Amino acid sequence: MPLPSLFISHGSPMLALQPGASGPALARLASQLPKPRAIVVVSAHWESRELRVGSAAQPRTWHDFGGFPPELYQVQYPAPGNPTLAAEIIQLLAAANLPAQLDAERPLDHGAWVPLTLMYPQADIPVVQVSLPSQQGPALQRQVGQALASLRAQDVLLIGSGSITHNLGEVDWQAGPEVIEPWAQAFRDWIVAQLQSQNTAALQDYRRQAPFAVRNHPSDEHLLPLFFAEAVGGQFRVEHSGFTMGALGMDIYSFS
Ligand code: ZN
Repeated sequence: MPLPSLFISHGSPMLALQPGASGPALARLASQLPKPRAIVVVSAHWESRELRVGSAAQPRTWHDFGGFPPELYQVQYPAPGNPTLAAEIIQLLAAANLPAQLDAERPLDHGAWVPLTLMYPQADIPVVQVSLPSQQGPALQRQVGQALASLRAQDVLLIGSGSITHNLGEVDWQAGPEVIEPWAQAFRDWIVAQLQSQNTAALQDYRRQAPFAVRNHPSDEHLLPLFFAEAVGGQFRVEHSGFTMGALGMDIYSFS
């Protein structure tokens, strides 16, 4: 059985310590999949101008955030990298006319390691990150997803890690899961409807067509990894859904 591709809403970095409902959903999902030989992550937290591929043999765990409790800075995710796979990814991208550079210095950002601590806590599966040239929008993510889709049949798990909604200026840090802003729900429901009907054209044009698109994504780096996961292709499934802090969507999707 080939692995699916996944879109994961990674929430706040505190998810690593306070997994809420998402943590068990991620653990369940991982336990149901065949064990990957490697994991490729496109994270909202590695924005770049050009495509880059992390090729460190042992990437550091990067606490790329500020203002959280000291315990969070103690969390390590010591998964190895996979320089051979990174080089193979460069070739697959080149074959699709997508030039990319290796980056041997790049550590794992929290968009990668926070969900992986919950999915694969043993940290024994190599992880390779591919950067997000966010200025090039959904169209580039579609090309990257298609270029890397063949890896799925080679036991590589492809993950887009971002957030289905992401307006940190309008979240209520005190709100519980029962509070959901209607403008966030409407946007999430529109995206799910387009994914269910495989309406790729509407998805690519979401910023004009989706309700409250700009309010949910003042900048769209957290939604772009969805277009990567979706482009890999296959049957869409909602693995988990929910909101936290009133407007921060925590949905997890698979494409298999
Ligand atoms: Zn994030």
